[in-house]
Amino acid sequence: MFGATLSTETEASVIGAPGANDDLRALIRTIPDFPKPGIMFRDITTLLLDARGFALSIERMAASVEGKVDLVAGIEARGFLFAAALAAPLKAGVLLIRKDGKLPGATIAEDYALEYGTDRIAMHADACAPGATVLLVDDLIATGGTARAAVRLLRKAGAVVTQASFLVDLPELGGADALRADGIAVRSLVAFDGH
Ligand code: AMP
Repeated sequence: MFGATLSTETEASVIGAPGANDDLRALIRTIPDFPKPGIMFRDITTLLLDARGFALSIERMAASVEGKVDLVAGIEARGFLFAAALAAPLKAGVLLIRKDGKLPGATIAEDYALEYGTDRIAMHADACAPGATVLLVDDLIATGGTARAAVRLLRKAGAVVTQASFLVDLPELGGADALRADGIAVRSLVAFDGH
């Protein structure tokens, strides 16, 4: 999840004019060497604490969504915050994508590769009707491993997933490009260099 090979081709996923989201960028705190040496952790808890910053983030993310979505799928745990807040103005439901073993009902799951080993995410098998349109949301996209697994999982459930929104993109890690190659329109508000 943290730290990976650099992509040579990157395309900005950031929406709006250059610098348009600098107010939000300024609210994201960078903590070097967390959770391990060499990682620049982009801490969004400082943005969450700022009433105006959080409201503006949701407003701008919501404005960039195309068409009607039936459901907003949030990835555990920070993705839940943005998914839930976005679902209200979009008049959509909220679908939870959780770490395996947390959901009480029958689930379907998807594995994805980490730097060492694998991880597994899950959703309730009956969470979305076949053909439901779903917007995928997380706080940040890095290598895209998590988001791509979430797209595979949602598609396995019969969802139509064509767009994904993130507060932060780390374009050098190539996740947004990989997600685009999976047929997803990727949008974010803020990009940071490096990883
Ligand atoms: P990835 O699967 O590599 O795209 O990683 C995405 C997940 O890991 C997101 O849910 C992020 O919250 C978290 N993450 C990865 N890298 C960072 C980073 N540099 N700063 C903050 N969160 C990160």
